[in-house]
Amino acid sequence: MSLQLYSDYPLRRLNTFGFESYAQCFTRLETAGDVISLHRYVDEHRLPLLLIGGGSNLILGPKVPGVVAQVAIAGMELEALAGDAVRVTLGAGENWHGSIERLLEQGVYGLENLALIPGCAGAAPVQNIGAYGVEVKDRLEAVEVYDWQQRRFYWLDNAECRFAYRDSIFKHETDRYLITRVRFLLSRQPDCVLSYKPLRDAIEPGQEGNPRAIFDAVCRIRRAKLPDPTLLGNAGSFFKNPIVTAGQYQALRQRYPDMVAYPEGEEFKLAAGWLIDRQGWKGYRQEGVGVHEHQALVLVNYGEGNRQQIERLAERIQSDVLEQYGVQLEVEPRFYP
Ligand SMILES: Cc1cc2nc3c(=O)[nH]c(=O)nc-3n(C[C@H](O)[C@H](O)[C@H](O)COP(=O)(O)OP(=O)(O)OC[C@H]3O[C@@H](n4cnc5c(N)ncnc54)[C@H](O)[C@@H]3O)c2cc1C
Repeated sequence: MSLQLYSDYPLRRLNTFGFESYAQCFTRLETAGDVISLHRYVDEHRLPLLLIGGGSNLILGPKVPGVVAQVAIAGMELEALAGDAVRVTLGAGENWHGSIERLLEQGVYGLENLALIPGCAGAAPVQNIGAYGVEVKDRLEAVEVYDWQQRRFYWLDNAECRFAYRDSIFKHETDRYLITRVRFLLSRQPDCVLSYKPLRDAIEPGQEGNPRAIFDAVCRIRRAKLPDPTLLGNAGSFFKNPIVTAGQYQALRQRYPDMVAYPEGEEFKLAAGWLIDRQGWKGYRQEGVGVHEHQALVLVNYGEGNRQQIERLAERIQSDVLEQYGVQLEVEPRFYP
């Protein structure tokens, strides 16, 4: 089995920021055999490796050394379990939104709130994607990985993935696991989550238990709120919502009574967008990049921007927020290299 390798490969269309970037070497992985061939190749040539899905959570530099491997393993399998439960196994390369839509058409529910998140199924567990009251960990049974250290494929169950808010084992052991398949426990019985008020408000009365109505409402809200990366380069939320102790939150609340925050166990999750917006960054433009005019949490590329510019802008926002609120904002997408 031999890999197709391309040198000096353009990545502009493979990152949603649309940054000009070239991979020293690029390949596409479609089978388990490709994964093993890639392992042999990078070992033999001692090359660094970047795994990529849809490039919607990556900030690439102009030159990416070593190999960029796009995980393009296809497949969707449904297995009926007891009662209404359905086990769904997706190949890592399946388009995330398209998979949710296909499941909905087949009467399999549970992922509607995560509609329209760009990217591939294989990257969904990496940062435990979440939106509108649901995180991928709430529906995920297991993740099939190729372990670079043990040189074998096996399944990690939900607990072993160590999921947390926008976090998992895959974010910490970036060079160890290549995700090949993801398995979900879904249902033919709707289990609609409407904990998020703007979503609740967008549902027609009487449609609260209809997964299609939720899917459509999520798509409507997202299209109205978020810039389309094919028109304006971006990676969605640029910063995580910072989590602070109850004491920190009370102190901040006294100074800023209208501060937006949500309880998170015994702690509080602050709305990063509110902090940035209040500092007047919305619509700010610096060099080829800026802060979206309607979404303070979304940094954008106006066309000719690059990684360095976005990094400089992000650092300015971080130090401004730190100085004003004593809160450190953490960047959500991954910078590479
Ligand atoms: C407009 C927009 C809206 C967004 N909205 C949301 C949102 O609501 N909620 C949310 O959580 N995220 C959101 N995101 C972020 C992003 O879409 C998700 O993180 C998505 O899961 C990334 O998928 P991807 O295939 O593009 O991953 P990539 O960007 O290609 O990769 C992301 C990370 O995963 C690693 N990776 C990719 N594939 C594999 C694999 N098979 N095995 C191991 N590692 C892998 C990469 O090395 C990288 O570290 C948004 C992004 C955009 C542009």
